[in-house]
Amino acid sequence: MAQSIDSELAELRANALLRQLREVDSPQQPTLELAGRKLLNFSSNDYLGLATEPVLRNAAKQAIDEYGVGAGASRLICGTLSPHMRLEERLADFKRTEAALVFSSGYATAVGTIGALMHKDDVVILDKLCHASLIDGARMSGAHVRVYPHNHLGKLESHLQWAHENYPEARVLVVTESVFSMDGDWAVLPEIVDIKRRYGAMLMLDEAHAVGVIGLNGRGLADQLGVAGEVEIQMGTLSKALGVSGGYVCGSRRLIDLLINRARSFIFSTAPPPAMAAAALAAVEFMLTPAGENRRQVLRRNLAHFASEMPMLFTGDKKLQSAIIPIILGSSEKAIESSQMLAEKGFFVPAIRYPTVARDAARLRVTISAKHTPKQISALCEQLRGLLK
Ligand code: PMP
Repeated sequence: MAQSIDSELAELRANALLRQLREVDSPQQPTLELAGRKLLNFSSNDYLGLATEPVLRNAAKQAIDEYGVGAGASRLICGTLSPHMRLEERLADFKRTEAALVFSSGYATAVGTIGALMHKDDVVILDKLCHASLIDGARMSGAHVRVYPHNHLGKLESHLQWAHENYPEARVLVVTESVFSMDGDWAVLPEIVDIKRRYGAMLMLDEAHAVGVIGLNGRGLADQLGVAGEVEIQMGTLSKALGVSGGYVCGSRRLIDLLINRARSFIFSTAPPPAMAAAALAAVEFMLTPAGENRRQVLRRNLAHFASEMPMLFTGDKKLQSAIIPIILGSSEKAIESSQMLAEKGFFVPAIRYPTVARDAARLRVTISAKHTPKQISALCEQLRGLLK
C-alpha cells in the first residue's frame, strides 16, 4: 500500500529531514529580519550584495515603466522583449561567445539544455556532486547516465572509454560545476578539458557560483584558468553574485539555435519579466566597472579574514577557493542543532542535509558576502570556534 502523506511527513520529521519555510521580512543583506528577530545573514548566494544595488533596482523600475511587469507570452510567441535581447547580446559579449540564451531560472537552464542536446542512446557523464538541476536534466533526457566520484579523473576517463566502446555513434556530454555549490571547491578543469577533448566529448560547465566572483571581471573559473574557449556549453545563473534571477547558456550560434528550438523549459514557459532581464543586464555591466572590481576585492579580503580566523578549516588539501565554506558535522541532527544554536546567538547559518548532500555529510554552509564587515565575520568565527571545540 502507498505510504500516506502524513506518515511520509512523520518519517521526514523523525529523521531530522523535514524542511519548513521561514519568512524573511527584509531585503537580502547582511542583517535579515526573520520571525521578528534580526539575524546576521551568512546564508545568501548574493555574494556581491547586488540584490539590493541601486543601479539594478533602477534598471528594473525603468523596465517596468517601459514594458510593464509581465512578458505576456513565451519567448517564441511574442514574449521576446528588447531587454531579453539586450541581455543575451551582453552576456555573449561578457563570456566572449557567439551567442547566449536566457532562461527563467538556473534550474530551467540545466534541465532544458541537457534535455535539448541529449537523447536516448547518448551518454551524459556527471561529477557526483553536481547540482540537482544537472542530475534531473540528465535523467529526464533519457540518455545513459554515468556518475564519477567528485573530481575523479580516472573514473571520468573510464566512463568516456565505456561510452566510446559501447556507443561509438553517441553524443557524449561531460557535466561539471566549476565552483561546487555545497563544498565551495573547484573542478579540476584543465584536466577535465584535456580528457574530454581526447575522447571527442562536449563539456557543459555550470558556473553558477563562480560567475561574478572569479576570473577577470567575474567571467568565471574557465576564464580564470584559460580554458573558456574549450567549454562548449557555458552555463550560469543570474541569481547569485549577479543578484537577480534566471539562468543562461553561452556558446556557439548553432548551440543557441538548437536550444531555442529544442529546450522545453525555454519553449513552453512564459518569458522572464522584462524587469528581471533589465536588472540582470545592469548586473553584467556592473561587473565591468571599477565598482564591480572593488566589490570582488572586498569579498576576497573578507574571505581572507575568515580564513585567518578559522585556520583549522583549511588544513591539508582543503583550501578556501570561493565564498562558500562547508563545516561538515555528519548527522542531520548535529547540523540542525548547531544551526539553531547559532540562530540563538544571532547568526543565520543554514544546516544542509540529505538529499542536498550525502546522508552522513550534513553540514553548516557559511557564505560570505562583500557586504559583511570584518567585525561581523569575526563575531561569527568566535561562535564557530566554540562549536568546533
Ligand atoms: N546550478 C547550481 C550549481 C546551483 O547551485 C543552483 C542554485 N541552487 C542552480 C544551478 C539553480 O539556479 P536557480 O536557483 O537560478 O534556479
